[in-house]
Amino acid sequence: MSKAVRPKARESADILIVNAKELLTLADAQAGPRTGKQMRELGIIRDGALAIREGRIVGVGTTREVSRLFRAGYVINAQGKTVLPGFVDPHTHLVFAGSREDEFQMRVEGASIMEISDSGGGILTTVKETRRARVEALVDLGLERLDAMLTHGTTTAEAKSGYGLTTSDELKILEATKRLNQLHSVNVVSTLMGVNVVPPEFSGNPDAYVDLVVGEMIPKVTAKGLAEFCDVSCEKGMFSLEQAKRVLVKGKAYGLKPKVHADQTGRLGGAEVAADIGAVSAEHLIFSSVQGMRAMASKGVVAVLLPAVAFTLMTGKYADARSMIDNDVPVALGTGFDAGCWVENQQLVIAMACRIMHMTPAEAITAATVNAAYAVNRGGEVGTLEVGKRADVLVLGVPNHRFLGYRFGVNLVDKVIKNGRLVVDREKQDEPIFMSKTE
Ligand SMILES: [Zn+2]
Repeated sequence: MSKAVRPKARESADILIVNAKELLTLADAQAGPRTGKQMRELGIIRDGALAIREGRIVGVGTTREVSRLFRAGYVINAQGKTVLPGFVDPHTHLVFAGSREDEFQMRVEGASIMEISDSGGGILTTVKETRRARVEALVDLGLERLDAMLTHGTTTAEAKSGYGLTTSDELKILEATKRLNQLHSVNVVSTLMGVNVVPPEFSGNPDAYVDLVVGEMIPKVTAKGLAEFCDVSCEKGMFSLEQAKRVLVKGKAYGLKPKVHADQTGRLGGAEVAADIGAVSAEHLIFSSVQGMRAMASKGVVAVLLPAVAFTLMTGKYADARSMIDNDVPVALGTGFDAGCWVENQQLVIAMACRIMHMTPAEAITAATVNAAYAVNRGGEVGTLEVGKRADVLVLGVPNHRFLGYRFGVNLVDKVIKNGRLVVDREKQDEPIFMSKTE
């Protein structure tokens, strides 16, 4: 009697996702953000499957390959659906109090930013309200916004301070950000942006305010370990290139990685400064020059484009994503969520990027996942579906990736898996299940 060949026992996993019409791995042999034609390579597996154990991806391949190697008590049938990495939102001003819908209506009716600030509106309204708010209130507001982000597929979000503009108020915002990261299943990446606008107390004297930021704010924030990045707003009539550089150099000396808000309202040369200083990313970039783009490309600075912010400004002017991709700048997409541009939904941003900036759906997906992850220094951890990466995974109720961009205005998310746990299941219940990381 011949010896039967016993099949190898299958490894156990916590969750298996099987039968996906398209599984977008975004995998690439080369690490780093994607540029040029690479941005169209989604690493698609048809009839794809994924195995998840202890918060990590342990297997990826076709359903046949993965089910031969793994078994799990919980199996998600993704038949007819698209599976991809959770979105990373690399640019938000998550923590603020109040709202500015009055100003929105004034803008719709044709008021200029100047007229709005003369009537007491604009960003300083948000500063006033945020200064008045207690940290607990800011945490509650932040939790609601993170719920909305997670429901729409964002599993990692950056959060910039900058509505406090005094050392104690900036510390308060960053404390709230830290608590949000601990309480909510979305990972929150913290950025100090003390140099956001000139506070009213320093009106006409931005140099003196920059002195405060470099002399007191950066040392105190870093002593408490409350930020990973330092961002500056480098715009005409706000802070000069020299002032921005001073802050970023000081931040770097204290271990904060630089980011720059650049060329949003005019061509000041923020893209060049970002390249010069070795920034991780430059953001907005509506008026950036081709030289600025080439400088960014040569240093691998990620361009974080924010079409929803440009849409909100209603000037009809958008960043030149096509030139950036042609010049090998790694392009990422973010919401730019703040009190002036209240949008938590990266799917909508993808639709805008396709329709207004002529990015293909594949490029926009790359920009909102892997490239966005590199824009917040998480490229080794999230943004692709590869063995070893954190299991932040979306199941969309559409048959292929082009529906992102094509079908817009509704939430395409069926399920969100965060750190290997099913945290949103829109097929099962109306309300998302939100679990703290510590549970
Ligand atoms: Zn911003």
